[in-house]
Amino acid sequence: MSTHVEFLIIGQGIAGTMVAQTLEKAGKSFLIIEDDHATSSSIVAAGTINPVTGRKYVKTWMADTILPWADQTYAQISENIGATIHRKLPIIRSLHNIGEENAWLGRASDPAYADYISPQAAPGKIAEQVNVPFAFGEITGSSQVDLKKLIETCKSRWLSSGFYRSTVFEYQNIQIKNGGQSFQYDDIHTENLIFCEGHQVMQNPFFNYLEFDPVKGEALIIQIPDGFEKSLRDKTFITPLPTKDQYWCGSGYEKNYTDKNPSALGRSQIAAQINEILKVPYEIVDHIAGIRPSTKKRRPFIGRHPQYENMYLFNGLGTKGSSLAPYFAHQFVGWLLGNNGLHPEVNF
Ligand SMILES: Cc1cc2nc3c(=O)[nH]c(=O)nc-3n(C[C@H](O)[C@H](O)[C@H](O)COP(=O)(O)OP(=O)(O)OC[C@H]3O[C@@H](n4cnc5c(N)ncnc54)[C@H](O)[C@@H]3O)c2cc1C
Repeated sequence: MSTHVEFLIIGQGIAGTMVAQTLEKAGKSFLIIEDDHATSSSIVAAGTINPVTGRKYVKTWMADTILPWADQTYAQISENIGATIHRKLPIIRSLHNIGEENAWLGRASDPAYADYISPQAAPGKIAEQVNVPFAFGEITGSSQVDLKKLIETCKSRWLSSGFYRSTVFEYQNIQIKNGGQSFQYDDIHTENLIFCEGHQVMQNPFFNYLEFDPVKGEALIIQIPDGFEKSLRDKTFITPLPTKDQYWCGSGYEKNYTDKNPSALGRSQIAAQINEILKVPYEIVDHIAGIRPSTKKRRPFIGRHPQYENMYLFNGLGTKGSSLAPYFAHQFVGWLLGNNGLHPEVNF
């Protein structure tokens, strides 16, 4: 028996999830093929949305546009699926010397940062539970997405509706018809094929010519009894998870990785950083790793295949999938449906 859908989506990380959500909202039929999250970076991510990053404390790219959009989209999805998947989560930044403090105060007094940085940090229990640095700053415009819950809830909903298949997509089995105006894959006939496979795009013969620059990261999940409520950014992140007393700690940036698995070196490096920061006892309960789909130009790759008319890519979310995916899924689907253009910096 043959199955017809308007859109076939490969991969259900945050990219595939947001594209499918947006198509569903527009009343379009779709089917997702996903290999049980075998290589998903969304599943291991902390889900932090951080508007002010780096050593110079600069606003993330397009923050004023994409962050309100992310807030609104995750709130709406929480309502639709009947589960809270997004919460405000301030980040306390450790400032280690007068130079860092001055740079921070400079940002805090800049009106363009008023929505994101508090003039006065309120570290609360953090001040009691960590080795106190020179000073603290506070990012108030930050939040956290429970990516695992979002992805798993959407998966079970789409599985039960028949919009989802748990299997590996084999590139060599796709039949391209009429220059890419339609596609046949096993029993599935579709007019549009959208690839959202995260760093596995490196195996995709249609798009692996693009300049991706994948980066591995690792994290330890620790338990701190009666720990702090805000997120801490010191030598590493120590971020409260929605599960009581659990904290996500990490992560490294490794370009020359040989596999996607947690490593003994990664574990010892993160544990050493935690030991330098925390004054209170903790227990390691898990060690996870993943590969970020980063790009050389540090912008997503969203657009159409140069040769096949209805073959698309939505990828390259790098370190910021939670922040970028809602806005760009909206823009991408609008573009597919002929309603708007695509941002020139993402359209490769
Ligand atoms: C340690 C770490 C921490 C991070 N922390 C944050 C954070 O705090 N905030 C943030 O915004 N971002 C964070 N990121 C980055 C974030 O994870 C990515 O930006 C985002 O998850 C990318 O989403 P994606 O959907 O493009 O890819 P993925 O999540 O990797 O999803 C791709 C999916 O496609 C599937 N797939 C691939 N090939 C096939 C195939 N042939 N057939 C079927 N299925 C296939 C994979 O199994 C996977 O489930 C972090 C990343 C890492 C590694």
